[in-house]
Amino acid sequence: MYSVTAELCSSSCTSTLISQLVCIKEGVTMAGQSLDLAIQGLKELLREKEELNEVAVAKIEKLVDELQRIRPPFLDPVVINIRNGFNEFKINKFDKNPDLYNKLAEGQNPKYLVFACSDSRVSPTYTLNFQPGDAFMVRNIANMVPQFDQIRYSGTGAAIEYAINALHVPNILVIGHSRCGGIKRLMELPQDDAFDFIDDWVKIGLPAKVKVLDEFPNYDFYEQCKFCELVSVYNSLENLRTYPYVVREEKENRLRLYGGYYDFVKGEFSIWKHERPIIPRPPILPPRPL
Ligand SMILES: [Zn+2]
Repeated sequence: MYSVTAELCSSSCTSTLISQLVCIKEGVTMAGQSLDLAIQGLKELLREKEELNEVAVAKIEKLVDELQRIRPPFLDPVVINIRNGFNEFKINKFDKNPDLYNKLAEGQNPKYLVFACSDSRVSPTYTLNFQPGDAFMVRNIANMVPQFDQIRYSGTGAAIEYAINALHVPNILVIGHSRCGGIKRLMELPQDDAFDFIDDWVKIGLPAKVKVLDEFPNYDFYEQCKFCELVSVYNSLENLRTYPYVVREEKENRLRLYGGYYDFVKGEFSIWKHERPIIPRPPILPPRPL
């Protein structure tokens, strides 16, 4: 297989073609995932390079045939699925955007810190078309931001601290979503079959639940859940203001907070700015008489 590649490179290829084949050859020498990559790459080459002469086409076809015959015997569908997903990304995105990926190799300068739910249906990277490097992401059950607490919530605190103090993100976006299981659980509490972690975690949203039950007592459970999905975003935005870095950056006008809501049933997204609270100035008192 390698000899065919080498021969092909030395005899009949343009420099671009040679570099592509070298990449493919290097890919083959890597782990098993690269075999599919090599085959796909060669097939792309056959489709895209009209200038290839007959000898080159025949040699590439022979190489594809050889590669297909040495498929690894262990075909775990999960491994294949993940491998195919990466190959798709590698060929259609990574290899086609060298400027972007070379720049990202030097460092990141994301425009957003995003809080989103872990729900598999609501990935902001997909729904908001974020590109690599755009968003520093925290995903958790029900997209919650806990109040500043170095003992209980150090994972979230570390992400906020790093995003603000090291990456200097100028925007934080908290995104709620429709039919959120975490919010449903919060609204159901208390229940007997307690989870090990979930119930304690979603209680971060208790102030939102209290507000919903207070203001919308006559709505049915599912409508209350929907209200809570929104009010909980406000609760998280307010909790962000318990972090000294957030307070400092907002005060200096270097940071803006936004709420968002993705309704995946209707296919709708809304976003709003979460304004800083207006702090009343102290009254100007007349000078005291001496
Ligand atoms: Zn959710």
